[in-house]
Amino acid sequence: MSIRRLPSELVNRIAAGEVVERPASALKELIENSLDAEATMVAVRLGAGGLDLIEVTDDGSGMSPADMRLAIERHATSKLPDDRIEDVASFGFRGEALPSIASVARLTIESRIRDGNDGWRLAIDHGAAEGEGPASLPPGTRVRVEGLFDKVPARRKFLRSPRAEYAASLDSVRRLAMARPDVGFTLDHDGRRILSLQPSDGPTRVAALLSHDLDRHGLGIDCFRERLHLTGVVSLPTFNRGMADQQYLFVNRRPVKDRLLVGSLRAAYRDLLARDRHPIAALFIEVPGDEVDINVHPAKTEVRFRDPAAVRGLIVGGLRSVLDEAGHRSSAREQYAAPAAWQVEPVGGDASLALAPPPEQGSVWDHRPTFSTAPLPQGRAVAASPIAPADQHYPLGVARGQVAATYIVAEAEDGLVIVDQHAAHERLVLERMRRARANTEGATSVARQALLIAETVEMDEVECDRLEGAGSELADLGLEIERFGPTTMLVRATPAALGKADVPGLLTDLAAELAELGTALALRDRLDHVAATIACHGSVRAGRILSVAEMNALLREMEVTPHSGQCNHGRPTWIKLAHGDIEKLFGRK
Ligand code: ADP
Ligand code: MG
Repeated sequence: MSIRRLPSELVNRIAAGEVVERPASALKELIENSLDAEATMVAVRLGAGGLDLIEVTDDGSGMSPADMRLAIERHATSKLPDDRIEDVASFGFRGEALPSIASVARLTIESRIRDGNDGWRLAIDHGAAEGEGPASLPPGTRVRVEGLFDKVPARRKFLRSPRAEYAASLDSVRRLAMARPDVGFTLDHDGRRILSLQPSDGPTRVAALLSHDLDRHGLGIDCFRERLHLTGVVSLPTFNRGMADQQYLFVNRRPVKDRLLVGSLRAAYRDLLARDRHPIAALFIEVPGDEVDINVHPAKTEVRFRDPAAVRGLIVGGLRSVLDEAGHRSSAREQYAAPAAWQVEPVGGDASLALAPPPEQGSVWDHRPTFSTAPLPQGRAVAASPIAPADQHYPLGVARGQVAATYIVAEAEDGLVIVDQHAAHERLVLERMRRARANTEGATSVARQALLIAETVEMDEVECDRLEGAGSELADLGLEIERFGPTTMLVRATPAALGKADVPGLLTDLAAELAELGTALALRDRLDHVAATIACHGSVRAGRILSVAEMNALLREMEVTPHSGQCNHGRPTWIKLAHGDIEKLFGRK
């Protein structure tokens, strides 16, 4: 065997594996080139999610015919005039994208420089020059990519459906449009206008591209730490998603998917969100050029910070302080709402019920008895209560009040019971739905409540597709939905077990759930997952004031429902502090 230099054509194809993984990554490279060419307007056209066609037209600087020929050569770039990678402010600098794409597709570039006369056109088919000649176009550049990977079966195999590729391409456009709000963008897919964004400022652009309700459920951020600056918007913990698909992170205006940053975002929400829930975020970090290395990966979506701890501290600290502030605000508002039930006075601030764990025990969770096996307490004297006697027939006790509009406090014969009302209710709804389904085995579906006025919900087109595709499964669960337009779903009925539900939130979460489940799971298992997601949107959310009667009804239902001791995410729905535990807490024992 002997060593040989690979022909450049092959080198390009190898590089293409890293730079253009799928249509969305080719699209990203083309838009970045337009932005680097100082375009004020970028128009994107896609066919079949980018599999058939990706076309990016800009009004940027344009290229001379000689430059066009150079542009498709490997490692030819106009963006490193003085060899200083550290100082590079453009998206590109590696000179790899165009030759890589040209090696695995049919590539046509048309371009016209501003003061030049005519435009020029150059076509390449899988690395081979196909011809060039004059072209007529306004100043700027139009790049067209057709049949990406058509002749590279090994690659083609890994591409997903046009729908999935379209979703990824839309994501690429969104990220770059957020990075550059000063530039106008349009996106057409299969002849339909999907996005039309006028040049604007950062917050306006983010609002136009993120979940519709973030203006109500979002928190703005603007903070410094030494030479680092963090701005952007994040969702309140209660406004979360089942998938981490709406997290847009930028370092010096460059969209990144960096692990350090994603992890820091996660950490800021620790103990505010269940493990399987994700915040929505658009975060912009500005750092001096010498603090960050962007040349870590050919796609440039990962970065390396000189001082990762400082960046993490900035994100966790900054987010934590706005989230904490928001926590005070919302709990303060709840105290104004005239409580229908007697409420336990919060002990100092919003620390509703601060319990120090008993010294010799690990945590109060340890005291959670297993419901089904716990014998009914007997023969113990109960202190007289000013309201009503604790009935010894009720293992979960009699409701005494509500704390922080989230927890029910009940007095049982053998101790104090605290119930997480949302977690408990969610579980009850799931079990109700399971029972209903078991009872209707073979019959059409579970009980549903028709909405008096069908509700319309605006969503992403991709999300609508997913829901529409699962329509008959959802109908089996009592959720009747219909496609009402490209980006609109119509809800006609919801499962009766659910009570009054947050319908838009439910659909958004279901779409995310369906995306995550894919089609890998058997129908039965999918139904269970989907039922759990539906149950999460029941009427008794944290923050709702309950009447004493409602609280007691919840406790009674829990007592007769299997698995009611834990919520659908595995957290406990209730804990009990036995009298002995309380005595220990007060040092009486
Ligand atoms: P890089 O962006 O890393 O320089 P590319 O292969 O993406 O590498 O592009 C090569 C060169 O082609 C760029 O450096 C730029 O000079 C030129 N070019 C590419 N796209 C455009 C465009 N839309 N407008 C003007 N020039 C462009
Ligand atoms: Mg480039």
